[in-house]
Amino acid sequence: MKIVFPSQTCMEPRGTKRGAEKLEVDEPRNKLPHPAPSLPTDPALYSGPFPFYRRPSEIGCFSLDAQRQYHGDGRALRYYSPPPINGPGPNFDLRDGYPDRYQPRDEEIREGLDHLLRWLLDHQGQLEGGPGWLAGAIVTWRGHLTKLLTTPYERQEGWQLAASRFQGTLYLSEVETPAARAQRLARPPVLRELMYMGYKFEQYMCADKPGGSPDPSGEVNTNVAFCSVLRSRLGNHPLLFSGEVDCTDPQAPSTQPPACYVELKTSKEMHSHGQWRSFYRHKLLKWWAQSFLPGVPNVVAGFRNPEGFICSLKTFPTMEMFENVRNDRDGWNPSVCMNFCAAFLSFVQNTVVEDDPRLIHLFSWEPRSPVTVSVHQDAPYAFLPSWYVEAMSQDLPSPPKIPTP
Ligand code: GDP
Ligand code: MG
Repeated sequence: MKIVFPSQTCMEPRGTKRGAEKLEVDEPRNKLPHPAPSLPTDPALYSGPFPFYRRPSEIGCFSLDAQRQYHGDGRALRYYSPPPINGPGPNFDLRDGYPDRYQPRDEEIREGLDHLLRWLLDHQGQLEGGPGWLAGAIVTWRGHLTKLLTTPYERQEGWQLAASRFQGTLYLSEVETPAARAQRLARPPVLRELMYMGYKFEQYMCADKPGGSPDPSGEVNTNVAFCSVLRSRLGNHPLLFSGEVDCTDPQAPSTQPPACYVELKTSKEMHSHGQWRSFYRHKLLKWWAQSFLPGVPNVVAGFRNPEGFICSLKTFPTMEMFENVRNDRDGWNPSVCMNFCAAFLSFVQNTVVEDDPRLIHLFSWEPRSPVTVSVHQDAPYAFLPSWYVEAMSQDLPSPPKIPTP
């Protein structure tokens, strides 16, 4: 008798409905040494046409203040204010104010999806997409999706994503890997200063009011954030995600978010062809993935010299970034990024079947390996807070009351 083992990997069942794909076995499952499912990440497996990606629309926003307190409005949004084009050009000292005017966010506080869940709780009744849209959606941070997009090309850092299904909706929340935690706790002083310099650049380029001027004399407080909440869809996966937005350009051709948003980045000044090639292959992939997801059209880069001064600026339109590696054998391909992300989301949808906010499927990935899964209950991996679960459970439409005789 021939025993057919279930397929070891789960490729994207493109065009098939969620849950429609089942591992095929012709023996009772409990008699088979069935291998744990996993998902490969090799780029070659995900080439092919670019998948459907709905034009992201902003459905809301929220702000976090200097004390990291949530506000359901856009008060933390800043306004793009580059130096005048006719003037002398930038000369921003990114080290100014470090460390005395630096208030870094406490990275020991694990926020999970909490701020996004707060927004969702406050707006669940007003979501577009028709009744039941949320029940079919995936809710996560933009940053988590960025990591998925770049996974087929990532050779340094792994990730872990915790997944729970609750009232149909799939929630994805990153878990800091032990390696990432160790690296963070041992972060060298030069790296801490480099992080500050990225935020300092934002301060030189942004004003608090439209048409206003930047004020680099103040503090850099990384608790403050403006987050856009977006709706999109990748293949058959409806998405609701939020991402931090650096600023809006009051002079942008379209004043409608996210088309008016600008992402600010710093990078080392480059001199050789080889330095530019490497920048296109590695950094531009991350910049593209981060800004493509929410539909942010432009990334403005400041290039810093060895003394830590920004002396030049360059705008990279998100939709043109791929052109820099299109003819590069060692470049990246947006189709591979998006096809892998769609395959991963299908893999998660097919794996997390049970609806239970206390049940966690932990998806783990290390470079040069497939994505693997482990199952957990409650602490330490459960991430949907009881205030959210309880409020969402109470607000369910109640069944019609039948009067008892
Ligand atoms: P990004 O794309 O990686 O910048 O992340 P998002 O835009 O998706 O940000 C989601 C939330 O996580 C926001 O509230 C950010 O302020 C916060 N956040 C972003 N990066 C980090 C980080 O490196 N560490 C911590 N603790 N929070 C972060
Ligand atoms: Mg930025």
